[in-house]
Amino acid sequence: MKKSRLPVIRIRPARKASDHSGNHTSPPLYKTTLEGRTISFAVKHSNKAKLLRLEISPSAGLTVVVPAFCNTNCVLRFLKEKSRWILSKLTNSDMARHEKTTGLKDGDLIPYLGGFLQIEIRDCDRRGENVTLSQNKLIVTVRPGVAEINATIEKWYRAQARQILKEKVDRQSQRMVVDYNKMRLKGQKTLWGSCSRKNNLNFNWRLLMTPEPVIDYVVVHELSHLKEMNHTKKFWQVVAIYCPEWQQHRKWLKEHTIEINNILRA
Ligand SMILES: [Zn+2]
Repeated sequence: MKKSRLPVIRIRPARKASDHSGNHTSPPLYKTTLEGRTISFAVKHSNKAKLLRLEISPSAGLTVVVPAFCNTNCVLRFLKEKSRWILSKLTNSDMARHEKTTGLKDGDLIPYLGGFLQIEIRDCDRRGENVTLSQNKLIVTVRPGVAEINATIEKWYRAQARQILKEKVDRQSQRMVVDYNKMRLKGQKTLWGSCSRKNNLNFNWRLLMTPEPVIDYVVVHELSHLKEMNHTKKFWQVVAIYCPEWQQHRKWLKEHTIEINNILRA
């Protein structure tokens, strides 16, 4: 018997962006919630830094200085640990000011497959606009005066997602001995993945902002629906065979949804 509801991985709804006026003067930032208050912060990578460090300035707001090999998870854990201090230092006006930014700019960091990419913006003439990845730099070549690069970067993420997710889906489906019909990319803020009764798979391109084991979990989750079209105990047993750490990855997704949704807001 078929269940009527489609199996989906739900995401908690992201908070509404406070400002979409297109005024992007201060550094674009990550967001997180500390003791019930939304704070924004910039991330600065440092090869010299041995420990995570916080900087607060009136112009830049809160900056987290991150040593090499420290991932998003460890940054967020650090912020939680230091939440008292941060909240005592940041005034309400600081928070309100830095709440407004949405556009990414030169030097900003964006999460990619568990690490960070640093955005480098280069000018070009009419032709030759492109986005290339070089080590951990995302080089965005655009015509001078292009104010909003979020759309350009999103396009690049979608292209990567199409390729990387397809490879993962093909590999895991062979391993799990299941056949799917089509794979599509979606960008809904409330869904990481879904599987239809016609065996079509949908994945959120923003998964590329999560660590690879998390992506693998979502892929296994949706493919497991080809065996079990529900979320019963039996379903989770299937997931556990192919992704024993699924609980940890599921928790990670729940905890990071808001941050991820806020990074490349349209
Ligand atoms: Zn599901």
